[in-house]
Amino acid sequence: MKHIILSLFAVATSAVAAKQPNIVFIFSDDHAYQAISAYGDARKLVETPNIDRIAKEGVRFDRCIVPNSICGPSRAMVLTGKYSHTNGFYNNTNSRFDGSQVTFPKLLQAAGYQTAIIGKWHLESDPTGFDFWQILPGQGVYYNPGFNRMGQQIKVPGYVTDLIADTSLDWLSKRDKSKPFLLMCQHKAPHREWDPPLRYLDWNKGKPFAEPPTLFDDYANRGLAVRDQDMSIEKTITEKDMKLIAPPQLTTEQATVWSAYYDPRNAKYLAEKPQGKDLVRWRYQRYMHDYLGCVKAVDDAVGRVLKYLDDEGLAENTIVVYAADQGFYLGEHGWFDKRWIFEESVRTPLLVRWPGVAKAGATNGSLTSIIDFAPTFLEAAGVPVPAEIQGRSIRPLLGGTTPADWRKSMYYHYYEYPQPHHVRPHEGIITDRYKLVRFYLPDVDYVELYDREKDPLELRDFSKDPAYAATVADLTKQLAQLRIDLKVPDPIPKQAYGGLFKAELGGGKKRP
Ligand code: CA
Repeated sequence: MKHIILSLFAVATSAVAAKQPNIVFIFSDDHAYQAISAYGDARKLVETPNIDRIAKEGVRFDRCIVPNSICGPSRAMVLTGKYSHTNGFYNNTNSRFDGSQVTFPKLLQAAGYQTAIIGKWHLESDPTGFDFWQILPGQGVYYNPGFNRMGQQIKVPGYVTDLIADTSLDWLSKRDKSKPFLLMCQHKAPHREWDPPLRYLDWNKGKPFAEPPTLFDDYANRGLAVRDQDMSIEKTITEKDMKLIAPPQLTTEQATVWSAYYDPRNAKYLAEKPQGKDLVRWRYQRYMHDYLGCVKAVDDAVGRVLKYLDDEGLAENTIVVYAADQGFYLGEHGWFDKRWIFEESVRTPLLVRWPGVAKAGATNGSLTSIIDFAPTFLEAAGVPVPAEIQGRSIRPLLGGTTPADWRKSMYYHYYEYPQPHHVRPHEGIITDRYKLVRFYLPDVDYVELYDREKDPLELRDFSKDPAYAATVADLTKQLAQLRIDLKVPDPIPKQAYGGLFKAELGGGKKRP
């Protein structure tokens, strides 16, 4: 009898558990798909065996679009499943997340999940919908960072990526094991200024990193916006980015290790004084060493979380997602940073392991988006998806089925201008093959057409080519329809643009 009751109990528990899988959402900041070995970039910049494991045991998405490619707005879109113009968080300059709106963590919490967010938050207001939160203030720092732990300021010795993993594992081990959980483990790395962990200084042993074919892009065949940005390795990168100045947060002991690597190399650089293309090349090498060193620590942190799930027998009933808040330029077009509708910026890595649902080792090229995460998690938990959510669950795609009415295009809108990188506001439509984009403020108003099939590196505007007239007309019509369907306000509120209308709006808060 006892045996039967126990079995029934086990069946009942597993039925509930199967209905409500755990969710581990690992979200890094500015992690380019080019810097994940599972994506097979031709440069082979770095090996990421732990992140690759998620791809091997799950699905790799090759066109996950961030509809407004910067940090804060991306995070707001993930939480709400809505575009910036709907959730109200447009930019990193003066937006503040309205935590009273519906988010997927709140709905999961109401459905019985334990919820936690640990790491980068970057939405100004305090997190809502979480049983536990420990977040970096603003961008946070890499070495010995401060955290806001449920409203209490703390400072923790160590390297930020390791610490975020430590706190995540600590929370997991102390959780109420009778409930399903949502863990949002959100790394600061590999965001600028790309301070690597001390254990990965000289990780490449001086071996040079391959350059992208467009490192010396001259921006011909494109309009003013592309030429007039301020995000190039040549003009924008700082001494701090280049580690010609040490980060101030290092302890004396850490500073000794840091200096042992950087000082002799910096001395050589200062003596040789590279100029022109040689200077860009030197900076690119330094950038890649540092950025990819940060990526290696993220990969370690992912490995620790996966191991915990294995050791605790949780892997089978836990969805693991790895994604970043947008893509990033690793020297393509001579750039770092993001913001653009162009591919390296707008496409974020997305890897999903979901035993029993996601086909192991599969890849998917459909247009997906970070606004799809919220409805996917809600569906997984058996929670009805609110009608106001603008994304769509990717669950069928994980099993290899793309619904016939799956989206064929994606709306894009970037607002923040002029600081920090002087990328003009632009709006556009992204399809499998094309991008039609309109740059419209403050001193420009023109359209460009990109054809990824003919021009995969996006080096040419085809909009004036008569052979493309019908395509331009068709995409213009589709973009207008998307604006209607998605209820894009007209005009866009001026505060959406950050500093652009600052004088008119009476100033704005300066962010770190
Ligand atoms: Ca970011």
